Amino acid sequence: MEKGAFSPEKFKNIATPFYYYDVELLSKTLKAVKEEISKYGFSQHYAVKANANQNILKQIATAGFGADCVSGNEIKAAANAGFPTSKIVFAGVGKTDKEINLALDYNIFCFNVESLPELEVINSLAEKKGKVASVALRINPNVDAHTHEYITTGLNENKFGFSLTSLEHVIYAIKSMSHIQLIGIHFHIGSQITEVDTFLPLCEKVNELQDLFESKGVALQHVNVGGGLGIDYDDPNNNPVADFKSYFELFHKHLQLRKGQHLHFELGRAIVAQCGSLITRVVYVKEGDSKKFVIVDGGMTDLIRPALYQAYHKIENISSNLPAEKYDIVGPICESSDVFAKDYEINKTTRGDLLALRSAGAYGEVMASQYNCRELPKAYFSDSL
Ligand SMILES: *Cc1c(COP(=O)(O)O)cnc(C)c1O
Repeated sequence: MEKGAFSPEKFKNIATPFYYYDVELLSKTLKAVKEEISKYGFSQHYAVKANANQNILKQIATAGFGADCVSGNEIKAAANAGFPTSKIVFAGVGKTDKEINLALDYNIFCFNVESLPELEVINSLAEKKGKVASVALRINPNVDAHTHEYITTGLNENKFGFSLTSLEHVIYAIKSMSHIQLIGIHFHIGSQITEVDTFLPLCEKVNELQDLFESKGVALQHVNVGGGLGIDYDDPNNNPVADFKSYFELFHKHLQLRKGQHLHFELGRAIVAQCGSLITRVVYVKEGDSKKFVIVDGGMTDLIRPALYQAYHKIENISSNLPAEKYDIVGPICESSDVFAKDYEINKTTRGDLLALRSAGAYGEVMASQYNCRELPKAYFSDSL
């Protein structure tokens, strides 16, 4: 199998495990997104939860994008990195008073509101500050994202957003909230969606809902369809940049915007996943009774996706060009789920080799923990090594 262009020489003096980010690839990805959205006048708010590393955030902010935040601290991180607060949206089912107050103080662009009690709280906190909060209703469109059950969010059984049946009542209730301005509707159906046609039913649902709002005399200026575009975990070397062209074209073709309406996106994974790799060192190669184990110094505390969602990351031995052999590649954490791959072929491996776990730029470093009293992995960037 083809390998990425890593130079183990460059990594020689760096303590493992660590994240390595290819900033040229991130830049290429951002350029590709910009090119597509500028064709149609769409806006992209980067989903900060995918990777909140300040250097990554700065590069994305510099490219001119907005930010999609799901906590008060993400709003702070985004603002610190240079995202204009006028381009920050704030989602989440459990926004606390403290977080809402912070967002009001930052004068963010829009709250993506997920429930009636949340609307009431935002209304009363905005009133205390003498402000009017701009909100979009996050609607659960009951659309199947055809992805892992832990990362599907747009079905009735999920905790996110307003159900379709509650909308009429909410539209009515908002009319008496003097410190809320309803500016749009928001959706996010799930993550790692690789088949762009999966978004078609979402477009149809949005078109239908536009009629409902219109019939209630509500003019919406903004439609936000969230994120969720997937990436190629199997073959990052040949598909380093997601198919943004087909993705944005689908919405342009199938989503009927009303006059003066603006369409927003919140891609996270598709922006940052491919630029990051977890670099880890082989501590031991252990011969089991029926299989061989490669035990590395990185574990589920550094990259939890395999343990959490049985996610696949391509693994390369960047120190070896010997013929491939089959191994179970496992971390050092005291949990049986701390396994990166089973019966996996990599070049014959010996103690001290460096492995690259690819496509780890999204939901990798940002999910790291200190379980087992481990240190958090550090990050290094291709332009400063
Ligand atoms: C997680 C999330 C996103 C980003 O999802 P990706 O799959 O990383 O593109 C966008 N919007 C909301 C509301 C989210 O929760």
